[in-house]
Amino acid sequence: MQCKACHTPIAANAIACPSCGVTKPKSMSSRSKKWLLTATVVAVIIIVIIPMVASLLWMQSN
Ligand SMILES: [Zn+2]
Repeated sequence: MQCKACHTPIAANAIACPSCGVTKPKSMSSRSKKWLLTATVVAVIIIVIIPMVASLLWMQSN
């Protein structure tokens, strides 16, 4: 396989690129996927919780 950062050929089982030190692209993509999942969960919570709290406060005020 090839390093995506510097295009140096590196071993498939290499943890990091020996040339530039960039970690394996696979671990980076899984990390960004986790970030995307976390961002989606946070967005859903904000979209669901804020109207719920707002309606509860509105009901209490009436
Ligand atoms: Zn590299």
